[in-house]
Amino acid sequence: MTYIHDTIVRLQKTSPAQAEFYQAVEEVLDSLQPILETSEKYKRHAIIERMVEPERQIMFRVPWVDDQGNVQVNKGYRIEFNSALGPYKGGLRFHPSVNAGIIKFLGFEQIFKNALTGLPIGGGKGGANFDPKGKSDGEIMRFCQSFINELYRHIGPTTDVPAGDIGVGAREIGYMFGQYKRLTGNYDGVFTGKSLLWGGSLVRKEATGYGCVYFAQYMLADQGDTLAGKQCLVSGAGNVAIYTIEKLYQLGARPVTCSDSSGTLYHEAGINLQTLKELKEVRKVRLNEYLSAHPDARFIPVTDYPADGHAVWRIPAQLAFPCATQNELTEADAEALVANGVIAVSEGANMPSTQEAVEVFLDARICYGPGKAANAGGVATSQLEMAQNASMQRWSFEEVDEKLKVIMKNIYLSASTTAAEFGEPHNLVLGANIAGFRRVADAMIEQGVV
Ligand code: NAP
Repeated sequence: MTYIHDTIVRLQKTSPAQAEFYQAVEEVLDSLQPILETSEKYKRHAIIERMVEPERQIMFRVPWVDDQGNVQVNKGYRIEFNSALGPYKGGLRFHPSVNAGIIKFLGFEQIFKNALTGLPIGGGKGGANFDPKGKSDGEIMRFCQSFINELYRHIGPTTDVPAGDIGVGAREIGYMFGQYKRLTGNYDGVFTGKSLLWGGSLVRKEATGYGCVYFAQYMLADQGDTLAGKQCLVSGAGNVAIYTIEKLYQLGARPVTCSDSSGTLYHEAGINLQTLKELKEVRKVRLNEYLSAHPDARFIPVTDYPADGHAVWRIPAQLAFPCATQNELTEADAEALVANGVIAVSEGANMPSTQEAVEVFLDARICYGPGKAANAGGVATSQLEMAQNASMQRWSFEEVDEKLKVIMKNIYLSASTTAAEFGEPHNLVLGANIAGFRRVADAMIEQGVV
């Protein structure tokens, strides 16, 4: 315990004001306690001390010109956290809340998530405190080009392979790839999440959401249950939320909510997927516009949220899929979910539940799939995109989806058997963290002190 405590205290001194990063480190280290106690080699090789320190952190200025001719400046980041298992792999996030601590928490989580997939990928993450909302296409393009004017020298198909995340979809990946190609002269698989027209993989767009639902399916199957007929809560209305909703319908469940930063939509008849895609993928507008097509739905603005949490988690349902952002599900939200009879929570977003909320789920012995296991389908399919690019092949939708299902099943099995091995079979947080850690740590030991 002192070892973990000392590590956090040291991080607070050496990397000040990075609350989300300490939160992610603490959660991982807490669950590593049983393995750190039984295998002294990890301490001897200073694995924890090395793992919490990124191999490389790149921070840079991103100047660009807006439509009015004004010069704007943002902060860009790429954190290359750990390459023991393969090239750095992880998305880019464009959101005004981005700072070094957020990118570090995401990069740290990514190490274990990528290890859990069983694929040869290291962990990294990046982004900028740029807000794409309300920007014209030209502004987005100029921003992406400027971002790559610095980042291109640090990335490559066998060194560091970025993808999308919040605020970064196929359009942004297209502009960044175009600029990378112009600067380097290389046409290679340096990004994943590319358009299907020029090197993208089928199922990549759907993969995180689909994978998160497959994960819930495997958790329920172990309890002799299925998704069929279950009422589900989904938060977010972006890439992950939309394809979580799509897969829930395909497997016979009924998603009744989604949300964005303006509020929560509750449609008891079931969220209309076509309307949602039209609003968010095509028109890119606020969620309350859904009501014009479906007046029987209800929109709860953020101003009406409970003071201690989020309106979406107060609606009774059997399954919950947090798919928006970090810390969007509080202890009070978790208590409300459990009181309302939720039987499983599968996280599409990264660290959406606060540490206190996770404790509530674990104490209640419900099925709880932590993000680093449940949302790993996205990065796994990114690796399948890299494999197709490197071999100049193109696999069918069915082929990729089948591989995704197998990967999600293996992730579930790896987390659940490891949890059982350490005497806490219901605790997939412990199982996922130890299983991911062991793979990375053993590779680091074999590669020497580097
Ligand atoms: P996205 O397409 O940009 O959608 C994000 C959604 O969450 C939007 O509906 C957004 O609403 C909402 N949101 C974001 N920040 C918010 C905030 N601070 N408060 C309230 N709502 C907020 O992003 P995404 O790719 O779906 O990512 C969602 C989550 O999944 C993130 O945690 C991401 O790290 C994680 N994830 C994504 C992938 C992937 O393949 N894309 C893979 C693994 C994990 P507004 O539009 O109103 O802001």
